[in-house]
Amino acid sequence: MDFKFCRLVENPNKERVLIVDFNPQKTCNFNCMYCQLGPTTNLTNERQLFFPVKEILEEIKQVFEEEVPDITVLKGKGEPSLYSELGKLIDEIRDLNSKTKIKVVTNGTFLHDRKLRREISKSHIIQLNIDTVVPEEAEKINRHHKGVKLDYILEGALSLALKYEGQFNVSVNILEGVNDSLENIDKMWRLLQRLQPNSVKIGEIEPYKASEEHENVSPEFVRMTKNIWKDLPFNVQYNFQ
Ligand code: SF4
Repeated sequence: MDFKFCRLVENPNKERVLIVDFNPQKTCNFNCMYCQLGPTTNLTNERQLFFPVKEILEEIKQVFEEEVPDITVLKGKGEPSLYSELGKLIDEIRDLNSKTKIKVVTNGTFLHDRKLRREISKSHIIQLNIDTVVPEEAEKINRHHKGVKLDYILEGALSLALKYEGQFNVSVNILEGVNDSLENIDKMWRLLQRLQPNSVKIGEIEPYKASEEHENVSPEFVRMTKNIWKDLPFNVQYNFQ
């Protein structure tokens, strides 16, 4: 069946995953150099009701009638927290079926908003994508909307981490010559110490590994990162070659 918002996939752990996209492609407040959805065509920092919750939920209901996925990932085609009814959507999915785990993948730009933090905290898993804690690097790699402030992201993430009871994962993408700096790795280590997530993934994005513009990050960088991060008291996965 063809759906407007939903697609079912299987993840490497053989879990069934329902991906729900509810921003018009491609609506984001970032325009990341590596974004697999392509360039951001609607760069906005304004939360909006892109589609009625009822319409999205109707599709999810149809999927659940056939199969309840292990995980329902709220991703948007862009940043999901730009969708102004994200909280309501999470509530409604929880009411629909308590077996599926709800996961939100976010760049963290609205986590400084207490109301959004409360809403998003009803999900079972939050994946925070943060590539750098150095503002000049963020401007280069994430090319964010001018209304986005890195300090707000960091404050918001720390506030979330203090109270969130679900599984909190962090993902860091590294691009050679952009955010593979000692300053980033060092400051990120400090941030991670404070966030105490359940797990962290750090590595390179596949298409860029092979691109001419971006070499693979150097073995020295990988060694340095593993050395500085070696004592982090949670699972760290290194996805370098
Ligand atoms: S935040 Fe996510 S969706 Fe937005 S541009 Fe970056 S990778 Fe793409």
